[in-house]
Amino acid sequence: MVLDDLGSSLRGTLDDLRGKSRLSEEDIEDIVKEIQRSLLQADVDVGLVQDLSDSIETRALEEEPPAGTTPRDWVLRIVYEELVDLVGESTELPLEEQTIMLAGLYGSGKTTTAAKMAWWFSTKGLRPAIIQTDTDRPGAYDQSKEMAERAEVDFYGDPDEDDPVKIARDGLEATENADVRIVDTAGRDGLNEELIEQIERIEQEVQPDRDLLVLDAAMGQSAKSQAADFEAAIGIDGVVITKLDGTAKGGGALAAVNETDSTIAFLGSGETVKDIERFEPSGFISRLLGMGDLKQLTERVERAMEETQEGDEEDWDPEDMLEGQFTLKDMRKQMQTMNNMGPLDQVMDMIPGLGGGLMDQLPDDAMDVTQERMRDFDVIMDSMTEEELENPRVVGQSRTRRICRGSGKPEERVRELLQQHKQMEQMLKQFQGMGDGDMERMMKQMQQ
Ligand code: GDP
Repeated sequence: MVLDDLGSSLRGTLDDLRGKSRLSEEDIEDIVKEIQRSLLQADVDVGLVQDLSDSIETRALEEEPPAGTTPRDWVLRIVYEELVDLVGESTELPLEEQTIMLAGLYGSGKTTTAAKMAWWFSTKGLRPAIIQTDTDRPGAYDQSKEMAERAEVDFYGDPDEDDPVKIARDGLEATENADVRIVDTAGRDGLNEELIEQIERIEQEVQPDRDLLVLDAAMGQSAKSQAADFEAAIGIDGVVITKLDGTAKGGGALAAVNETDSTIAFLGSGETVKDIERFEPSGFISRLLGMGDLKQLTERVERAMEETQEGDEEDWDPEDMLEGQFTLKDMRKQMQTMNNMGPLDQVMDMIPGLGGGLMDQLPDDAMDVTQERMRDFDVIMDSMTEEELENPRVVGQSRTRRICRGSGKPEERVRELLQQHKQMEQMLKQFQGMGDGDMERMMKQMQQ
């Protein structure tokens, strides 16, 4: 994905700054060079890179870190803020009745995006409809109809009509009951007058509230001129970057955003209707920098811990866990907390330094703490002795049978519980393995 290796290379450079109380001009130059290298490799426009590095350099040299902040954390903060500034805000998209028109070249992912966006709006409680006006690409109608069915949203198209403007007009009438109407348009291999003229006519008919430009993340610098042409024809309010799941770098799309003075609305990362996420600048950049979405994580953890600890006399101390004392009691509290926080894999995604790598190493069911299993685990733990809860390793065959009789749960569930405990313990060891203090700091931050 765009800037993909920025996080790791930058962290390396930043780690060299640990323990320094002041940063020299050379230190800052090293950081800026690292950022430039990553951005240029990701196809980001040279001009943009220059502006960004100038701002980072000036701020890092001139601004004083607030008391209590290390120079390293301060620089990271500046880099983060400047990158957020570079990618810009998320396109405003109120959850209300509206018509959105999609434009873009052939193969950019418009038809897929129309279905994904419709699905996304449906998850927000709105009733979406797709209007397919592409009369040029054979198969566009069938593909679009099929995807609309998969997304379980309304669809209008007319395979026998070859005037896209008429289809658009009829489509608007036919989808009167929908809240959000997404109008898909034809693309071409390249932008030409005919396409521009056609899209202008459709736009006049549809009078959309928003025009979104769909761009393939693999597009390099040509994204910029393409965006400028679409901007001149219909005016672009936001950009959707597709195919971020591939090897594409996406930097070209950033240039397009800048060129059209617009913002990013959605990111597409796969071929199914659910592979879409709303663009959220701070989370996006935090993830790229490998910082995790700390702010969001901290808020969620605080909320979850408050909920868990209500009526709970014993405090769960994350620091104890970091020191390696992880008992079944800790696990029970942690499971309650995690359950209050939301799906564990999403939580993991937000933790600094835990990219796909660690998640991939863990067995799938390590993350599978379903409600039902948790309820069973709770009942089982009620049947365990204090000693067993403190040190589950003492639970052998005969104790397992006793616990099983006491709780009325199958032996297999008891073993699952012990297995789950082991896996979580192993996971914690991996946290400790991060070794650079990030985790401790994060835990402290969570507790504040
Ligand atoms: P259109 O010509 O602009 O309407 O493009 P399509 O929606 O037909 O997409 C072109 C191809 O790209 C299709 O094979 C899609 O399945 C694929 N595609 C679209 N979006 C994504 C994405 O986010 N990730 C991946 N991997 N493929 C995508």
